Amino acid sequence: MATYKIGVLYGDGIGPEITKATVEVLKAATKRAGGVEFDFVDLPMGWEGIEKYNDPIPQVTKDALQETHGWIMGPHDSAAYPAEHKANRNPSGELRHYFDLYSNVRPAKTMEGIKSVVGEADLVIYRENTEGYYCDRNMYVGTGEWQITPDVVVSTGVFTRKAAERIAHAAFQMAMQRRKKVTIVHKANVIKLGTGLFLKVCREVGEQYPEVTVDDFHIDAMTAHLVRRANFFDVIVTENMFGDILSDLAGELVGSLGLAPSINTNENQAMAQAAHGSAPDIAGKNIANPVGIMLSTVMFLEWLASRHGDDNLIKVARSMEEGIFTTLAEGVKTRDLGGSASTTEFTEAIAERIAR
Ligand code: ATP
Repeated sequence: MATYKIGVLYGDGIGPEITKATVEVLKAATKRAGGVEFDFVDLPMGWEGIEKYNDPIPQVTKDALQETHGWIMGPHDSAAYPAEHKANRNPSGELRHYFDLYSNVRPAKTMEGIKSVVGEADLVIYRENTEGYYCDRNMYVGTGEWQITPDVVVSTGVFTRKAAERIAHAAFQMAMQRRKKVTIVHKANVIKLGTGLFLKVCREVGEQYPEVTVDDFHIDAMTAHLVRRANFFDVIVTENMFGDILSDLAGELVGSLGLAPSINTNENQAMAQAAHGSAPDIAGKNIANPVGIMLSTVMFLEWLASRHGDDNLIKVARSMEEGIFTTLAEGVKTRDLGGSASTTEFTEAIAERIAR
């Protein structure tokens, strides 16, 4: 039986609660589906990293992750770290940069039992994850920002053909498995060279996928189109910051940001990570919603299955996903969704439905 080594980074705030819940549900689904085993490796990140190694994302964690088949990343509360750490890339930004996880895949799909404000929708955003307007990701060394006087700051945007090409290929390949439609989101009427290059390269890549219909929108108009007719969209490809903002909007439109999953990938590695943050206001109260990180783990299992050609992983993913969806459809929900279940009660309800 194949064994996969999975890193688990619990992180800060609600991170330990929702990540522990995710591992429990994954174990229940593995027991139910059979055919694979997981070797979980707990690794320090966030405050635990600072306390043990004076680093929120210590080198021991990066070295250990290199030896895994992928990992589950809890949220981090980097805004609360001591000043010396705030100057650096935050833990998820650092891991995306360090492992060159260039593709951030963020689906937004309506779910039974969850109120959507845009009706039915099933779309997936491919966010370029390594450059664009996130200037600390852009640089080999340095932050990509300069304070010229106390009142003047320059922040750098970087757009390369290579980065646009690889995220475009990822998006078009996904479109081929879905409804064969890609929307490129940019602002090439104003940021003519930078996002203009992104648009041009995405269109060129699209010519290699003649079955896929391509259109494009400016980022500002796109927010209106998403609210007005979310079900028109299939795969959306865009630069780093536009993708970050658009995916929060899409997640909230189809239900709640607390439900929104994502994975960060390249050809060899993947990191499962909920779209939301560490929610320090509700940490330790056993009320956090773990669905975002659980569905991120489902996506991670699907990625792992395609990378290793192992259908048993798909069975585990389906078992986990069905357990989550059935629980929500039967009305067991955490408080953010209008329910009354605690994180542990909700998690037990999923595990129980998986075992049924
Ligand atoms: P970051 O900058 O790290 O993304 P943030 O400060 O922008 O984080 P979140 O930590 O995501 O925002 O929290 C925003 C709000 O959503 C908070 O009120 C928080 O309690 C709530 N929230 C976020 N995630 C969850 C969750 N999984 N379950 C319940 N509530 C959540």
